[in-house]
Amino acid sequence: MYDPRSKIAEEFIADEEIQATLAWAQENKSNRELIDSILDKAETFKGLTHREAAVLLDCDIPECNERIFGLAKKIKEHIYGNRIVLFAPLYLSNHCINGCIYCPYHAKNKTIVRKKLTQEQIRQEVIALQDMGHKRLLLEAGEHPRHNPIEYILDSIKTIYSIKHKNGEIRRVNINIAATTVENYRKLHEAGIGTYQLFQETYNKPNYEMLHPKGPKSNYAYHTEAMDRAMEAGIDDVGLGVLFGLTLYRYDFVGLLMHGEHLEATWGVGPHTISVPRICPADDVDPGTFTNAVPDEIFLKIVALIRIAVPYTGMIVSTRESARVRAKCLEFGVSQISGGSRTSVGGYVVEEEKEDNSAQFETSDRRTLDEVVHWLLEDGYLPSFCTACYRAGRTGDRFMELAKTGEIATYCQANAVMTLKEYMEDYASEATKAAGEKVIVAELPKIPHEKIRIASEKRLVRIAEGERDFRF
Ligand code: SF4
Ligand code: SF4
Repeated sequence: MYDPRSKIAEEFIADEEIQATLAWAQENKSNRELIDSILDKAETFKGLTHREAAVLLDCDIPECNERIFGLAKKIKEHIYGNRIVLFAPLYLSNHCINGCIYCPYHAKNKTIVRKKLTQEQIRQEVIALQDMGHKRLLLEAGEHPRHNPIEYILDSIKTIYSIKHKNGEIRRVNINIAATTVENYRKLHEAGIGTYQLFQETYNKPNYEMLHPKGPKSNYAYHTEAMDRAMEAGIDDVGLGVLFGLTLYRYDFVGLLMHGEHLEATWGVGPHTISVPRICPADDVDPGTFTNAVPDEIFLKIVALIRIAVPYTGMIVSTRESARVRAKCLEFGVSQISGGSRTSVGGYVVEEEKEDNSAQFETSDRRTLDEVVHWLLEDGYLPSFCTACYRAGRTGDRFMELAKTGEIATYCQANAVMTLKEYMEDYASEATKAAGEKVIVAELPKIPHEKIRIASEKRLVRIAEGERDFRF
């Protein structure tokens, strides 16, 4: 029944294949010869199958586990260099008709403050985000046909792209909204979205149904097949993710990789990004309900293994995680993080609203964007506000081809240096600016292509003189 090319959820995420994979991984968790051969394959940067990755997840040989983390670090450095792309979530509305029991926006929660931003309030939020220095947003909204119809989302995207405040502008809007129809995905595509993200939460069907007792999201197949509809509509950059801690992490880890393999087999391009959220405390959600909580050490191993299994897929971690865990995630594979995030509706503008209970989850990393940028710089990373690829039409398989041949690194490195320079000129504190100058001096010579390196040097001068929005 398992068929990665099938368009039917239960066939491309076949429970029998996951169970067989988990059993095989258990049997082989101490099989040194097999584990070494899988790691040798991973050294070639060609990625791993879900079966191979599952064995590494279960592996209990200390030296092999050390090799896993070392390899994840090596792949991260080789493909992504020191670059870390920054973004911020923007919550439009927390009205929702679904019943997800791990989310405070669930329909039955009567204690949460329900809000939906007007276009004017979105304007204010976006100006606040631009004044922080953000260029890339992730829009979030609950599912509610009356409050949050597709027209509202489309209007909001239009509003966001139209706002130019001082030197600020949002250049890429990614979207995280409920599974919808091909027709609606087509409208989102036409509105110029970057990535469409939809988290599966869990791939285990019985658990999924138990966790989603109400609303359209309770339909496992409709939710799981959403990325196929998005791709059919022309959105070729999609972002996967599971909420670790909802069910047994091994099951979801395997399901996640199988979903990626399905997209690659069916559409010729795997996921653009994978997010790794973990269940965390929130209003009307008792984390004690979830007995499968993933401890830090396993969580970091999952991050390292995703890096090894799908080397060219960007990996995202949010401010749910503490600064300490985020630092480790960056080391082992994460390439994008949010900074200065507010997870409440209207949280960027009205001070008292930051403290209300309209947030989707508690943020653990509460630093400002400038503090996050400064921290990255001090740790030797190159913070990037780049949004170039989708604006240059480098999406889907076009993007993946450049990524797999390594050519993309030239663009990424040059764009990172230039967008950091813009940030330093317009928004950075003096300390961040000073740290940024040193990092630019160190990172500029690493632009692999000589012509682009020389052009970047010239553009840095022009940015200092006031010009903006250069990109390769
Ligand atoms: Fe609604 Fe999404 Fe929360 Fe579920 S996870 S209750 S769909 S906002
Ligand atoms: Fe991302 Fe493309 Fe920019 Fe690289 S050049 S950071 S892949 S948008």
